[in-house]
Amino acid sequence: MKYFYYHQGELFCEKMRIKRLAKEVGTPFYLYSAGAVRENYQRINAAFASLETLICYSFKANANLALCSLLAREGAGTDIVSGGELYQARKAGFPPEKIVFAGVGKKEEEIELALRENILMFNVESEGEIELIGAIAQKLSKVARVALRINPDIDPETHKYVTTGKKENKFGLAPPVARKIYQKLKKNRWVKPWGIHLHIGSQIATPDPYLRALQPIETLLKWLEKQEIKVKYLNIGGGFGINYQPGQSSFDLDDLADKITPLISSRKLKLILEPGRYLVAKSGALITRLLYKKRQSSKTFLIVDAGMNDLIRPSLYQSYHEILKLDEPPANSPREKVDVVGPICESGDFFAQERHLPLAKEGEYLSIMDTGAYGYSMSSSYNGRPKPPEILVKESQWWIVRERETYSDLTKGEHIPLELSFTHSRLAGKPLYFTKMEGIGNDFIVIDNRPGFILEPNKLARRLCCRKKGIGADGILLLEKSKKAKFLMRTFNSDGSEAEMCGNGARCAARYAWMEGLTNKKFTFETPSGNILAEVNNHEVRIKMKDPDPVELNLKITLKRCTRKGHFINTGVPHLIIFESPVNDSSLKEIAPQIRYHPRFQPQGTNVDFVQIEKESLRIRTYERGVEAETLGCGTGAVASALISAAIYGISSPVKVKMKGGELTVWFEKIKRGLYQKVYLGGDANVVYRGKIIEGDIDV
Ligand code: PLP
Repeated sequence: MKYFYYHQGELFCEKMRIKRLAKEVGTPFYLYSAGAVRENYQRINAAFASLETLICYSFKANANLALCSLLAREGAGTDIVSGGELYQARKAGFPPEKIVFAGVGKKEEEIELALRENILMFNVESEGEIELIGAIAQKLSKVARVALRINPDIDPETHKYVTTGKKENKFGLAPPVARKIYQKLKKNRWVKPWGIHLHIGSQIATPDPYLRALQPIETLLKWLEKQEIKVKYLNIGGGFGINYQPGQSSFDLDDLADKITPLISSRKLKLILEPGRYLVAKSGALITRLLYKKRQSSKTFLIVDAGMNDLIRPSLYQSYHEILKLDEPPANSPREKVDVVGPICESGDFFAQERHLPLAKEGEYLSIMDTGAYGYSMSSSYNGRPKPPEILVKESQWWIVRERETYSDLTKGEHIPLELSFTHSRLAGKPLYFTKMEGIGNDFIVIDNRPGFILEPNKLARRLCCRKKGIGADGILLLEKSKKAKFLMRTFNSDGSEAEMCGNGARCAARYAWMEGLTNKKFTFETPSGNILAEVNNHEVRIKMKDPDPVELNLKITLKRCTRKGHFINTGVPHLIIFESPVNDSSLKEIAPQIRYHPRFQPQGTNVDFVQIEKESLRIRTYERGVEAETLGCGTGAVASALISAAIYGISSPVKVKMKGGELTVWFEKIKRGLYQKVYLGGDANVVYRGKIIEGDIDV
């Protein structure tokens, strides 16, 4: 019976319209026919019915649990090659007494697992392996049954990548070595010779290579008989080819069975077969959608949504797979020469080249046939492509027997080491060091960003300045490379906005640079509002401010419920000074925010300082832009207050300015009333602590 066929103008799998599945599940997906799997199994069974035969399905061909469980239910055993396959096979329902374990590189823990499971036998591929099996068997007090895999040195006339029985291949043992091992096993209490194993390759077209391979096996059997070494099983492996191309004939199982029967039955051997492809290849199809049709040079490309990551056989072995449209093309419909290619960034990502296919339109579905073997089992998520789902059809029932992978599956089990996890930087494994500093209660996180670690300073500032969820600060100060001076200081407020300059920040940055040995005691550094000269004297830092703009006195600012008189000056950043004595809390809470956003000062807004003149000093409280609240201290605010006080009340340099967080001194030279030069700001700049950020959760 045909399990994939056209009916009423559409491709069916058993009694299911495949297009319906495609619409429901989305493409690409693998589709399997339960009926086809069962029929293939029964065909092999029937061909070898005259012999005592165990069909050990080669698990690697398709490890889908549901599909494998069908075979286990039919009575099949399985041929596995790893501890992982043993685990999967047991889950699928294969009984241990029907499991054979091949593979050139079995590891200690895999052997131990298989011995504990009491599998039928190991197909042994080297002398070292037999010793290890013996040692583990002894340790577990279990007897290991083994077949030696013979390398008969014959050419199975198939693709070189799936040729496994030539002497230059890594598989099996040369007959003389095998004889030596069998001989040794005679005296081994823990390892029993149980059989002989062969597997000469895959996609073998005719019985002939098997018959050639069995010649040295017959010689070995005769030698074993002479040595009185009894083996129960002859395992001739898998490899039976199928007809991928129309017109190709498939492997003649009956012929092989006929020809090997005398050798096996005369010695009362049990036969093991390990078919993979023959059982499942023709039971599967890969369903895909045509995304784009593209003409380039002399070629027409059909770009589909399946890729070599889903089905690698054409890329790896240049193998042929028939490609059918889900909509049946009318008889004699026109054809065009196309390359059917996937979306992967490799020119080797193709399913057919220069193939004459019926005309297909973008959006149509295609079925890549005979992909049940070595399709999904060799798939990967290369190019960040989640693996496709697998669907099993049984008559008119269907199930998603493996779900489509999701994007989160792509990173399943992955961990970014904490040291590497600072996503908004280029730290490459190193922690981000910072120094928490404060100048009169204006606190900053200072980071040497000259290597350019930090890519998103605005986000970083918001995250780190947060008092509850970060380190907590009024802003971050980044020391960056400068062409004009020792370094460039950039200031980011806690809301992420960048400030042109910050007096207390500049003093902290200067002290930091001096402490880190980046500078001498007296040096110049750059800020976005101009160059700054700094002098560090232990804790005290004096900076020369940019010459301020002329003051703008007696501005009338109309607010919601009142009008306030203020005086404006830019001391690197804008400040509006209001004299108030004593300073009211409500001025900072209600008046200052209105002034900060007042149209007169847009677009950049302004800081607002309330100044009270005392005997020999000024007392000020500042509402800062960016922080959007009163801060404990503000350097440019102190300068602004001193200069405006000089302009209005004739106060002379130096001026002591007291703020909640401490005291600053401002020096200046008067050019004329309201215009000043050589303005300096001095006061303490202290280190609070140093730290390093390695926490992956700081991801903004
Ligand atoms: N047995 C062994 C040891 C194998 O390595 C393989 C495939 O590589 C098979 C059986 C199954 O081969 P096939 O799928 O061609 O039948």
